[in-house]
Amino acid sequence: MAVSYPKELSKCSNEEIYLALLEHVKKLAAQKAGKDTAEKEKKKLYYISAEFLIGKLLSNNLINLGIYEEVRKELEDAGKSLSEIEELEPEPSLGNGGLGRLAACFLDSIATLGLNGDGVGLNYHYGLFRQVFENNAQKELPNPWIEKESWLTKTDKTYTIPFGGFSVQSRMYDIDVTGYENRTNKLHLFDIESVDEDIVKEGISFDKTDIKKNLTLFLYPDDSDDDGRILRVYQQYFMVSNAARLILDEAKERGSDIYDLADYAVIQINDTHPTMVIPELVRLLMEEGLLIDEAIDIVRKTCAYTNHTILAEALEKWPIGYLERAVPQLMPIIRQLDNRIRKEVRDESTYIIQDGLVHMANLDIHYGFSVNGVAYLHTEILKNSELKNFYQLYPEKFNNKTNGITFRRWLLHANPKLTELITELIGDGFKKDATELEKLAQFAEDEAVQTRLLEVKQSAKCELKDYLKRTQNIELDEHSVFDIQIKRLHEYKRQQMNALYVIHKYFDIKAGNLPKRPITVIFGAKAAPAYIIAKDIIHLILCLQELIANDPQVSPYLKVVMVENYNVTAAEKLIPACDIDEQISLASKEASGTGNMKFMLNGAVTIGTMDGANVEIAQLVGEDNIYIFGESSETVMEHYAKADYVSKDYYEKDEDIRRAVDFIVSDELKRIGNEEYLERLHHELISKDWFMTLLDWRDYMETKERMFADYEERLKWAKKMLINISQAGFFSSDRTIAQYNEDIWKL
Ligand SMILES: *Cc1c(COP(=O)(O)O)cnc(C)c1O
Repeated sequence: MAVSYPKELSKCSNEEIYLALLEHVKKLAAQKAGKDTAEKEKKKLYYISAEFLIGKLLSNNLINLGIYEEVRKELEDAGKSLSEIEELEPEPSLGNGGLGRLAACFLDSIATLGLNGDGVGLNYHYGLFRQVFENNAQKELPNPWIEKESWLTKTDKTYTIPFGGFSVQSRMYDIDVTGYENRTNKLHLFDIESVDEDIVKEGISFDKTDIKKNLTLFLYPDDSDDDGRILRVYQQYFMVSNAARLILDEAKERGSDIYDLADYAVIQINDTHPTMVIPELVRLLMEEGLLIDEAIDIVRKTCAYTNHTILAEALEKWPIGYLERAVPQLMPIIRQLDNRIRKEVRDESTYIIQDGLVHMANLDIHYGFSVNGVAYLHTEILKNSELKNFYQLYPEKFNNKTNGITFRRWLLHANPKLTELITELIGDGFKKDATELEKLAQFAEDEAVQTRLLEVKQSAKCELKDYLKRTQNIELDEHSVFDIQIKRLHEYKRQQMNALYVIHKYFDIKAGNLPKRPITVIFGAKAAPAYIIAKDIIHLILCLQELIANDPQVSPYLKVVMVENYNVTAAEKLIPACDIDEQISLASKEASGTGNMKFMLNGAVTIGTMDGANVEIAQLVGEDNIYIFGESSETVMEHYAKADYVSKDYYEKDEDIRRAVDFIVSDELKRIGNEEYLERLHHELISKDWFMTLLDWRDYMETKERMFADYEERLKWAKKMLINISQAGFFSSDRTIAQYNEDIWKL
């Protein structure tokens, strides 16, 4: 089937070509839609998630449908550029970071493995937010992404969703999820008809109490006040009530009598945001005439829960009062569910309702049949400490599913030159079976291959340079080392530690200790709008960027770049160009990380702590091919248990640390930045430093120096790159999804 362009291709505008391709892809995708009426597809997975950070879809769909090369060539022959056309596509902003990106990678792999499974979420009109920098600080703006013609298809599915005192009418929109040379599944995004974009005022502020107008405007609206938090409850209930109704409708269509629902549906609850699906399904089954015991039995066999974090503040606990107000119909069910546990279980720490709060994770663990962590270390910490009491109750429920990424997006699409080199060396079997990348190891000592790998990296660096110049007017020196830290801004991820290294290097250069090669430290990160210290860290980085750029003594050797509005599109450009990848979270705090996997796949070498999936990466590549530093998770957890970490001690006894930390409140920086912000961050670091920046700083600094020295042995470095790529196969989300299916979903 040929693409139908509105006129001769060379005369079409990029806009016209984009729209023609959009329509063409939708048609092709529809032809591959799974036929889930057949008996062989009795059971279906529903992956419910508040976030799906899907990124742009055009290229990915062209790749998965097997027509990328053909389309690209046809455009090229007509003097058009596919990559310019791609730039017209808005990036849907339906996620925060890793958790949402994971959900997107999973949908790709589910379709690629030919499994019958759809995603269910919300259609946020303004997504998260668009980040801009003003006066060296983050400012949030709405991020509208829905255009007249888009990947969304309006469906006939609508439900009436009841809330306390009123109800809303929902509508389902679908986005096709194409598998790589396989079937098409769906991402179902629910919306309300009455949403009103005009209520958004200055920045991203709006009336948080006007639920009928605001429900699907933003992802995670500011939760610094009660109205913002209750809005989240409304959103979550709206998501799961629609999901539960859809699941029941579809199961019946496939022949379920609802008593056998667990044979027809399995629900993966992605973090605690969709937890209310449990009581809501019980409630809907009771409306169908089932007794509560019967309903609970069914739900217990249908729901599985993924835990994504051990950060206490991220485990949701909703005040009963919120639920009574937003979703009063659910509270009696939740009380019943809690009462059963109170009768069955002695351990009060596992109760669902405690001190007037509903503990969502506790609900998931008691009433789900599976609880999984997202990397080996994370799951061990869940079993042995964070969720130890639950593990003792239900050891059989706990299992690990180490995260993964889709290689279609993060290698084939993001890095075509590397894909070509790999294909030339080992054939293209790795595109379907990522473990075939191991065959690259045979070239580890091959100087010709090492040289070509360095050339591929250099060309990605040049492409990043062009991209940042064109889109953000940032100048990069492609002959410098690209040292990159891109991820959500959070104190546990420790961007502040990297910033303190930059300050240290600045002093070093001032003192005449010049690096062998210029260093470019690149950051990209959004901070939650109400997370004050995170915004202060962004402020510090932006001030350093300005200070160093204007210092003729330092700027030839050191450059700091903070990329605006870090998102999937930016990640696709930054990751292939990276030399040194920063994965420096405080050990025990990063559940898995998936950025680390994307970087190794693209031949970056990691500096990291023994945290999350870094542990598994280190095991696979060996100590010569990763730079590990910092205290272990055991030591860190001991510090927390004993409350014996005092950042001031490190500040006082280490001169380099003191000099770097005090520079935050120096006259030089205060002239550029905001005194209050800088003082606040300085105070935080020496009086609290909850995520122990100063504990690991010296080891970090020394490890990084060693890394820069090793970088100069170019061929030896290329060998490290090659080993990293060759070991990345384990981190394909195809492997992860095969394991979910084998152990949990059983489709
Ligand atoms: C992969 C990815 C993340 C997750 O990065 P981590 O380093 O694992 O936190 C966040 N945001 C975007 C846009 C990503 O592509």
